[in-house]
This record gives sequence, C-alpha cells and structure tokens, in this order.
Amino acid sequence: MLEEKRPPVLIDKAKIEARIKELAQEISRDYAGKDLVIVGVLKGAFVMLADLVRKIDLPAQIDFIAVSSYGADTKSSGVVSIIKDLDLDIQGKHVLVVEDIVDTGLTLDYLMRSMRARQPASLEVCALLNKPEARKVDLEVKYCGFEIPHVFVVGYGLDYAEQYRQLPYVGILEENAAER
Ligand code: 5GP
Repeated sequence: MLEEKRPPVLIDKAKIEARIKELAQEISRDYAGKDLVIVGVLKGAFVMLADLVRKIDLPAQIDFIAVSSYGADTKSSGVVSIIKDLDLDIQGKHVLVVEDIVDTGLTLDYLMRSMRARQPASLEVCALLNKPEARKVDLEVKYCGFEIPHVFVVGYGLDYAEQYRQLPYVGILEENAAER
C-alpha cells in the first residue's frame, strides 16, 4: 500500500501548484507571438508537463522524448541514450524542454546537444527541481521550480524503481537503497 510507505514531504502540493503557475506566466510572457514546441522528457516530466501546459496561455505544440539514465537504480550511470525520439521537426521552432530534475546535468546536456543539432530558433530548459551541488557540466536552467539539496526525491512524476510517481508532492526517499 502506498499509504504505508509515504516518503516525508520536501515540497508540498500547494507550493508546487503555486510555483508551476508562476513559471507558466513567465513562459507565456517570454514566448508570446513565437512558435513554441514544448518537449517533455519521459517519464519523470509527465506530471509537471500536464500541469504546466494547462496554465500556459499560448498556442503550443507538445512532444515527448525518452532517454535512458538511471535504470532501476538511483545512481547516475553517465550513459545516456535516446530511446524514444521526437515526432515533430523542431527546426526554426522555439523549443522548451521540460525536465523533472537536473542532477549531474549529464542527461540534459546530451539531450540539448542532440536538439541543438536540429537547429531550433531557440532552446531553453524548464525543470521542476534543480540540484546545483551535484552538477558535473555547465548547464543553464532558465525556468527552475525549486533548488533542492543533494537528496534523492520521489513523487510528482519522479520514481524509485517505477514507484512513487503518482504522489502529489515531492518527498525524500529515506531508504538506504537510495544512498548515492
Ligand atoms: P542527471 O543526468 O542530471 O544526473 O540526472 C537526470 C535524471 O536522473 C533525471 O531526469 C531523473 O530521472 C534522475 N534523477 C536525478 N536525481 C533524482 C532524484 O533525486 N530522484 C529521482 N527520482 N530521480 C532522479
């Protein structure tokens, strides 16, 4: 039962909702009049993406990309590959990549390179969570929900071995198995 193993709250539902609303307003202002493509990085970004796009007051195309990163473990393998590519052609479009969390930055760095090669008009990142302490590459997160310390979090789309994604808040996974 999910009830029995509820991770302690780091960021509650109300805070997430308020922050997503602010980000959506900022994005709506910045991309007004532009051809916007919003790219969700599967699977972790699916909850944030669904909440965010419904608050963005602009026409936009939505697409998804899936990458392999941690597998069922919590440690970064440093090996990234695209396992589901975009359906849309992003050349000449303003692309906003929506990611659940930026940790070492290796996953996003790889993705950004791959997308930049397709010559979008612009390419920016919106991430729910950012762990600046863990960063291994230089990477700008233009729209950031929350900066968090170097802990392993789950919920609001983020998993541990495919569990916890449906939690409505961001919680800290306390199990030893998640030690990094
Ligand atoms: P990076 O390449 O930046 O180290 O890691 C990016 C990916 O690792 C994220 O998209 C996410 O899937 C996973 N990840 C990094 N930190 C966490 C965390 O604290 N919790 C969860 N559930 N996944 C994480």
